[in-house]
Amino acid sequence: MNTEIIKQYETLKDEIIDKIGKLVSIPSVIDESTNNLNTSHPFGVEIEKALDETLELCKDLGFKTFKDSEGYYGYAEIGEGKEMIAVLGHLDVVPAGNLEMWNSDPFKAILKDNKLYGRGTQDDKGPTVIALYAAKALMNLKNKFNKRVRFIFGTDEENLWRCINKYMQNEEVPSMGFTPDSKFPMIYAEKGLLQFNLIGKGEDIEINVDSAYNAVPDKAQYSGKNLDSLVAALDKLNYTYEIKDNEVTVLGKSVHAAAGEDGINAIKHLVIALKETGYSSPSIDFIANEIGNDPYAEKIFGVVEDEDSGKLKFNVGKLIITKDKSQIGIDIRIPVTANKDIIVETIKTVSKKYGFEYEERDFLRSLYVPKDHILIKTLRKIYEEETGFDSTPISSGGATYARSMDNCVAFGMVFPDGEKTEHQPNEYISLKDMERAFGIYAKAIQELSK
Ligand SMILES: [Zn+2]
Repeated sequence: MNTEIIKQYETLKDEIIDKIGKLVSIPSVIDESTNNLNTSHPFGVEIEKALDETLELCKDLGFKTFKDSEGYYGYAEIGEGKEMIAVLGHLDVVPAGNLEMWNSDPFKAILKDNKLYGRGTQDDKGPTVIALYAAKALMNLKNKFNKRVRFIFGTDEENLWRCINKYMQNEEVPSMGFTPDSKFPMIYAEKGLLQFNLIGKGEDIEINVDSAYNAVPDKAQYSGKNLDSLVAALDKLNYTYEIKDNEVTVLGKSVHAAAGEDGINAIKHLVIALKETGYSSPSIDFIANEIGNDPYAEKIFGVVEDEDSGKLKFNVGKLIITKDKSQIGIDIRIPVTANKDIIVETIKTVSKKYGFEYEERDFLRSLYVPKDHILIKTLRKIYEEETGFDSTPISSGGATYARSMDNCVAFGMVFPDGEKTEHQPNEYISLKDMERAFGIYAKAIQELSK
C-alpha cells in the first residue's frame, strides 16, 4: 500500500468500524409481510433503514446519491466523465440463525481480538463500507476521477435479486465493475443455470420422486405392477435398492447438480431398470433412450464444454407420473461460452418427439469476463502488488452478484488465508483483512476510473 493510502486508513479506520457497526445494528433481514406491498420498503422497514442509513453516510462523505422511489436499490456516485464504473454491494443480510451458537448479539457489532463480529460484517455490509471509504480516501487525496464511480446498493441479494434486476431495467449500465461480495483473487466465470419441467400426458404407471431440481436424487420409489421383473432387472444391472411392503426403493448417491458426475441418480436407475423389464412409456423411453446414465446428456447435446467452465451438467431431479400427467424436472449447468437458446431449442426438439412440452422454471445467466479483459488484468496486477498472492482468476459453480451485469467480477473480500464466515454464527472480518482490502479497493477504484 502506498504511504498516503496507509495514512488515510489510519485516519479513517475508527470511523469505518463505527459505520459498519451502525449498519450491523439494523437487522436488515427480508420481511415480505403484506403491509410492505406498494410501499417504499418492499423487503421490509429494516432493509429500507439500512439503505437510507447508507445513502445518508454517502452524502456525508461527499457522494451524489439516488434512491429508487420503490425502495429496491440506491446508489452513490463520485467523479466526472461519460463512462461509469460500478462497485456492487448489498445491504440485506441472512437471518442470525440459532442465537445459541453466537457468542454475542448478532446485531450489535463487537470488536474483540482484532475481529469485528456481527451479522453482515463479512456479507456484505463490511466490504461495502470498506470500499466506500477506499473511495473516500481517494477523494481526500484529491484524486482525479476521469470516469464516474458508482456504488450500487442492492437490498435483495440474499433472496431473488429483484433489486439489481430492477436497477438493470431502469438505470444506466456501468461499463465495468466489481463486487466485493465473495473472495479474492476474483471470480470471472460461473455457468448459466437453467431449470425446467418437461410436461407430458398421463401414463399407466405411478412414480412420485418429488425431490429438488438442483440435487441428484438418492431415492426413487416404485410400487406398481411387475415388481418381480423390476427386481430382477435391478439385480441384473447391479443397481442398489431395498424392498419393503411391496415397494422397491432404488438407492443412489446425492450430490449437488453442479457436480452430478460424482453422484448416482436413483431416478435414472429406476427408469433404466423399468425399461429393461420391457416397459415402455414416453417418460421412461425419453429418459432411458436419450439420457441414460450420462450426467452430461451428450446424446442430446453432443459435447458441450469450454476451458473456462468445463462441461455442461444435466440433472434429472424430479419424476412425477400419474394417470393424468407426467413431469420430468431438470437442472442444467450451461458452460459460459455455450448459447442458452440453442440448448433450449435442442431439448425442445428432442423431448417433443416423446410428446413433451418445455416449461421454464428458472434461469440465471452465466458470468464470464475473458481473462485478457482490461478489468481482469488491472485487478490482478493490483492484487498481486498488494498481497504477493497468486492472482489466477477462479471459475466457480456458485452464483455471485457479479453475474447480474456484463464485465463485472467478484473481487474479495475473503482472502485465501482468511476465514469464510458469511451466513454463519459469529460472522466477522479481521482488522488485518479490513486494512488489506482497503488498500486493494482504493487502488482498484483509482486505476479503473483513470
Ligand atoms: Zn453477499
